Amino acid sequence: MPVPPADFRSDTVTKPTPEMREAMARAEVGDDVLGEDPTVKRLEETAAALLGKEAGLFVPSGTMANQIGVKAFTQPGDEIIAEEQSHVLTFEAGAIGLISGVQCRPVKGRQGIMDAAEVEEKIREHDIHAPRTALICVENTHNLAGGAVVPLAALDALRAVAERHGIPLFMDGARLLNAAVAEGAPARAFAARADLAWFALSKGLSAPVGSVLCGGRALIERCRRIRKQLGGGMRQAGIIAAAGLVALETGIERLAEDHARAARLARALDALPGVSVDLAATRTNIVMVSFAEPRAAETARRLAERGVLAIALAPRRLRFVTHREVGDADVERAIAAAQAVLARAGS
Ligand SMILES: *Cc1c(COP(=O)(O)O)cnc(C)c1O
Repeated sequence: MPVPPADFRSDTVTKPTPEMREAMARAEVGDDVLGEDPTVKRLEETAAALLGKEAGLFVPSGTMANQIGVKAFTQPGDEIIAEEQSHVLTFEAGAIGLISGVQCRPVKGRQGIMDAAEVEEKIREHDIHAPRTALICVENTHNLAGGAVVPLAALDALRAVAERHGIPLFMDGARLLNAAVAEGAPARAFAARADLAWFALSKGLSAPVGSVLCGGRALIERCRRIRKQLGGGMRQAGIIAAAGLVALETGIERLAEDHARAARLARALDALPGVSVDLAATRTNIVMVSFAEPRAAETARRLAERGVLAIALAPRRLRFVTHREVGDADVERAIAAAQAVLARAGS
């Protein structure tokens, strides 16, 4: 029997656990568009409590969570501020322009963190020539910055700017629970700095589908309407929400194991020739390897031949993500494969 590959492409590859499948089979369901699915309601309440918000909204994907968030706070012709390499700008197929009719004023972050003074400079003056700055978006953890945490102090500084100008703050917290576990701080402490925040159930938490947006009650009702407009109203969604509830009960503390494995992998890869890893930014489950030469795609191919899967996100960038389905042996296998491949490339 061939050994299955060690799959470090993303934490989204995680399959539902046996306990999730049990819960899905037994889930009590109803028509959630009519507000009658008790399991979805329980998930939304549980998620809202976790983030310290009044209400939650179960959505099919993180991309939809971001798009609903942007639309909820903007009018066509407005401008949003977001980190230059954030998911909402780089991985959502231009949807903010399509769905909300807004443009973006990007800010270059350091280790995923936007400097508050720089954000403040990018806020537009009231002027008939200028777009209106309607929203500040923060990504936590920051995916392309290597799963970097935006710590509470940085969020406080951004929050102060947002309040000074009366602009809402939105948090793409796809991996917010990773940030909370890494910082040893409750998720609600991070969410408290944002008007609206969400996290994914389908990444490190291993549920098959879904994310939950959390915010004030009136705001979430507004989001619910936008979800309907985007075709994201789901009927007996309790089937998948049930897995999300198991994810919240069983998956959060476990994220620390993923972080420890990522740290081990990051240190070993950083020691190899021709590549580097920002070890200070590597606090969670993402290891972003930077190449001196544009060899990421070729390296990914060579690693795959050795049964180790990672994603070349740019010519000089290769991403590894640790998750529930990669163990210590897989990490050692990835290190050995990378040593073989990169030693050869460097010679
Ligand atoms: C994965 C991700 C998303 C999108 O989530 P999907 O469920 O894949 O649509 C948004 N933001 C960040 C930071 C992500 O990592």
